[in-house]
Amino acid sequence: MEQANIRSELAARLEELEARVARIEADLAAPHSADSEEQATEREQDDALEGQDALLSHEIAMISAALKRIDEGSYGDCARCGEEIGEKRLAAMPEAALCIDCARETQRH
Ligand SMILES: [Zn+2]
Repeated sequence: MEQANIRSELAARLEELEARVARIEADLAAPHSADSEEQATEREQDDALEGQDALLSHEIAMISAALKRIDEGSYGDCARCGEEIGEKRLAAMPEAALCIDCARETQRH
C-alpha cells in the first residue's frame, strides 16, 4: 500500500479513537447517581471504562508514533534493529514499530 494511503488510514483511525476516548472521559466525568445501589453499578461501569480508556490511549500512542515515522521518512523500518518490518506485517498492523523478531523478543521480557 502507498504510504500516503496508510497515512490517511491511520489518521482516520486516530480521529475515531480520539472521539471514543472523549466520549469515555465525558462518561467518567458525569455526576454519579444519589442512589447507593446505582452508585455501585456506576462504579463498576467506571472501572470498565477506565480499562477501555487505557487500551485506547495505548493504541492512540502507537498510531501517533507511526504517523510521526511516516512524516520523518522512517516508517517501515524497525525501531529496534533498523531492519524492514515487512509488508505483510505492516498490512496487518500498520502502526507496528518493530519487526516480528523484535516484537517477539520484547514480549518475552
Ligand atoms: Zn527488529
